[in-house]
Amino acid sequence: MVIFDLLATEHQKVALSCIRCGACLNVCPVYKTIGGHAYGTTYSGPIGAVITPHMSGMEEYNHLSFASTLCGRCTEECPVNIPLHELLLYNRRDAVKQGKTDKGFAMVMKAYKIVLKKRWILETFSPGMKNFGVGIVFKGAWGNKKSLPKFKKSFASRWKNEHPY
Ligand code: SF4
Repeated sequence: MVIFDLLATEHQKVALSCIRCGACLNVCPVYKTIGGHAYGTTYSGPIGAVITPHMSGMEEYNHLSFASTLCGRCTEECPVNIPLHELLLYNRRDAVKQGKTDKGFAMVMKAYKIVLKKRWILETFSPGMKNFGVGIVFKGAWGNKKSLPKFKKSFASRWKNEHPY
């Protein structure tokens, strides 16, 4: 039944021609950095991010389609020419149209954008406070197989140390 959901789509159905060679996973900068466990699904990497929302639920798994730089390496490598990075965009569009995206995450990203655009706000928080905040916001999404990276010094203080003149 879930395969038929994918087959019924206008664009994403071409993902069904996947021969499971794994080439897209091996070139994906996201997959290479976070590993397969972080996806929390049977199919990981770019092809997993395309088909899992259709197979296991758009509401629960649409975030996989958003976790991509859209660099297109997967599309270049795919031997059966599946336009993976374009299909990720169609998944994003469908998730938004269907109202299945995480509203809380969108709010966090808006706040993140405001903070990133104002260096003084970033500098206000000590590394310990940043670690605490990131731990609260991302612990669940990060998965339980890896520990979160830790802030030690701000970029500005590192820059000052390494470029004193
Ligand atoms: S590269 Fe193409 S055929 Fe190979 S696993 Fe990825 S989507 Fe499937």
